[in-house]
Amino acid sequence: MGRKFFVGGNWKCNGTTGEVKKIVNTLNEGQAPSQDVVEVVISPPFVFLPLVKESLRPDFHVAAQNCWVKKGGAFTGEVSAEMLVNLGIPWVVLGHSERRLLLNESNEFVGDKVAYALSQGLKVIACVGETLEQREAGSTMDVVAAQTNAIAERVSNWNDVVLAYEPVWAIGTGKVATPAQAQEVHSELRKWLGKNVNPEVATSTRIIYGGSVNGANCKELAAQPDVDGFLVGGASLKPEFIDIIKSAE
Ligand code: PGA
Repeated sequence: MGRKFFVGGNWKCNGTTGEVKKIVNTLNEGQAPSQDVVEVVISPPFVFLPLVKESLRPDFHVAAQNCWVKKGGAFTGEVSAEMLVNLGIPWVVLGHSERRLLLNESNEFVGDKVAYALSQGLKVIACVGETLEQREAGSTMDVVAAQTNAIAERVSNWNDVVLAYEPVWAIGTGKVATPAQAQEVHSELRKWLGKNVNPEVATSTRIIYGGSVNGANCKELAAQPDVDGFLVGGASLKPEFIDIIKSAE
C-alpha cells in the first residue's frame, strides 16, 4: 500500500477563542480531498484542543504540540500523554525545533517522549532538522540521522510515526527549501531507515516536509517522490491551508 499524503497544521502558540472558531469555520467550509487521499491533522495549543476537537469537521483530526516524557504526576506545567488519550486526542507533535532549541530538548529526551507517547497509544509527528550553521558545515545528514537514531533506538513499531523533516532555517522565515533540497534529505532519511531500522519501515513511513510551506510552493514540493506531505506553521492559520491540503491530489 502506498503512503497516504499527510498534512499537519501547527498553530504553535497562536490564537484566541474567537480566532480559533474562525479558523475552524474556514476549514469546515473548505473543499478537501477524501480521507482515502489525505490525512489532515490540526495542532492547536493545548487549551484549545477540546474546542477544536468538538467543532472540527470529522474527516480532520487533532494533535497536541507536546506531551510529558513519562506518566503524569508531580510535573507542574506539563500535560501527560495519558491526559491526551483521555480527551480522545489521537496525535502529538514531538521534537519540534522550537522546543529542541529554545527549551533545550535533547535528542535522547525527544526519543524518550516519542517512545512513551506511542506506548500510551498516541500517534506521533516526530520532527527533525538542521540549523543553517549545520547545513553550511555540511552536516545536515549527520544531524538528522542522530535525531532519528535517538527515536529508532527507543521505538520498535513505526506504524504510528510520521517523520517531519523541518530545516530550522526554513521555519517561519519565508525561505522554503527547494524541492530538490527537500527531496535529497527525504530520500537520504528513507535510506537511513532502510539501513538502520528495516526496509519495510523505510517504504511505509511517511516523511513530511515543514518550513515556509504555502499555497504557492506546495504543489512542486508535493510532486517529489519522497515528500509524503507537510507540516505547516504560518500558512495553517490562513485559508490557503486548504490549498495545501489539495496538493495531495
Ligand atoms: P512555518 O512553520 O510553516 O511557519 O515555517 C513550520 C513548522 O514550524 O512546523
